[in-house]
Amino acid sequence: MMNRSEKERLADFVSQRIEMGETEWYLSPDFIHSSIGRVNESPVSPVKKSAARSDSEMKKAACVEPSFGNGSITAQKSLEDLEKTVCGCVRCSLGRTRTNFVFGDGNPDADIMFIGEAPGADEDAQGMPFVGRAGQLLTRMIEAMKLRREDVYIGNILKCRPPNNRDPKPEEIEMCEPILLRQIEIIRPAVICALGRISGQTLLRTKSNLASLRGKIHDYHGVKFIVTYHPAALLRNPHWKKPAWDDLRLVRREYDGLEL
Ligand code: SF4
Repeated sequence: MMNRSEKERLADFVSQRIEMGETEWYLSPDFIHSSIGRVNESPVSPVKKSAARSDSEMKKAACVEPSFGNGSITAQKSLEDLEKTVCGCVRCSLGRTRTNFVFGDGNPDADIMFIGEAPGADEDAQGMPFVGRAGQLLTRMIEAMKLRREDVYIGNILKCRPPNNRDPKPEEIEMCEPILLRQIEIIRPAVICALGRISGQTLLRTKSNLASLRGKIHDYHGVKFIVTYHPAALLRNPHWKKPAWDDLRLVRREYDGLEL
């Protein structure tokens, strides 16, 4: 039977492991008694139920630093290091409600980058961007451009899902956009394609509607920037697929001059 002090120290130990992203342990009585005296001296490796950990668990365990400055972001030279730096982010309240941080996915040397507004339910559950029905449509759109999904890079402005898929709030964008900017600086795409009105308006800092944003080559921090429909909108309204295809042809033409 543990006394009160031992219980408190065990609670501290468990809190430390949770903060480090670990969510599952089996602690044998022997382990508890042999470790509890050392809890406050050094981290102790817990005995795990299973040695195998999912990619998602591994990523979460690596995300131990919830606060960082913009200087830490700009210091990162690779997407991998950037993700490690920011994946525990709680700069805005969405960091407390997300299931998974959704950094982005694709070719780190991509010439074309697609940017949506924020993860949805499927993305939040899997920690990957554009993986639901809209994501499958995006994959088909990319293939129609005579590219493979793995040729491009896909991400969102926000890395955490807003509850009930509401629009991003200005303060969330302000907190999160430095991560996206650094991703763009590292990838250095030739063309960015914004998926949806919110993405286009937010990144271009404009209230113009989608109709007036489409069909033009904008500039986003020195990169050609084209706005089109969000794939989820195309699922709701297939009549927009033809104009969306015109936008993608423009993206491909601006990328390498190929006329589709
Ligand atoms: S949305 Fe962006 S700023 Fe907010 S917690 Fe997630 S990563 Fe951090």
